[in-house]
Amino acid sequence: MRRTGRTEHGGTAEALRLVGVTKVHGTADNAVTALDDVSLSLPTGTFTAVMGPSGSGKSTLLQCAAGLDRPDRGKVLVDGEEMTGGSEAALTKFRRQRIGFVFQQYNLLPTLTVLQNTTLPLKLAGRRVDKGLARDVLGRVGLAGRLDHRPDQLSGGQRQRVAIARALVTEPRVIFADEPTGALDTRSAGEILRLLREAVDVHGRTVVMVTHDPVAASSADSVRFLADGRLVGRMTDPTVDGVAERLAHLGDLVHSEPRTEV
Ligand code: ADP
Ligand code: MG
Repeated sequence: MRRTGRTEHGGTAEALRLVGVTKVHGTADNAVTALDDVSLSLPTGTFTAVMGPSGSGKSTLLQCAAGLDRPDRGKVLVDGEEMTGGSEAALTKFRRQRIGFVFQQYNLLPTLTVLQNTTLPLKLAGRRVDKGLARDVLGRVGLAGRLDHRPDQLSGGQRQRVAIARALVTEPRVIFADEPTGALDTRSAGEILRLLREAVDVHGRTVVMVTHDPVAASSADSVRFLADGRLVGRMTDPTVDGVAERLAHLGDLVHSEPRTEV
């Protein structure tokens, strides 16, 4: 029952809303419309995969939704609050309070330990650096024995688990992941997907993940397909074969489905 609009883990029932988001990269002659009037609503506690051909706007969608980039038109609401169109500092603050991000190339700071990398977002947000909490989260991702290691002493899969811990530690409303398994072997990729799934199922987080991989996408509750900067389809309870099949025919879909949805 969500009569109050609040969820079991706090926050509103709608974690993320995009309304008519448009983003043009470059200027004049070489302007590229990377996102074209994208609208989208994701309930709290869901795991969504975003798929589409290379250059279809997946990363731009994530960057705009996560406040790492600014749309030219349209708006983004996280947990019912509009992302500010104000100063860079205000946008950064909004992001640090509500959003976690996991990158394909981990983006850990090489000179910091695993524990220090994990507590960094708390420090940057001016929050109490709760090392106990950080240790708990690192334990959850299987790195309890690696707290004082530096990134170059870890495997790719372990580095990505640090990045997941770093994204979880602030208890963000939405976690965005851009190809988080793209650089990993099958087994490590499986562990990362399991951790993202657990963040949703156990901790009530909302996850949005870009991936090329139908296996990764099949971990999600639903898949949104992008082509030429537009949302062109969705699939709920995706299967590996179903996703692969849809991807193969994505070009056919571009002009046959409505481009906006709510
Ligand atoms: P995807 O992640 O699906 O591969 P992107 O969002 O990275 O797609 O890119 C969408 C389109 O925008 C592509 O045509 C890409 O070349 C262009 N693009 C992305 N980032 C920039 C940028 N910083 N400057 C100019 N063009 C860009
Ligand atoms: Mg990309």
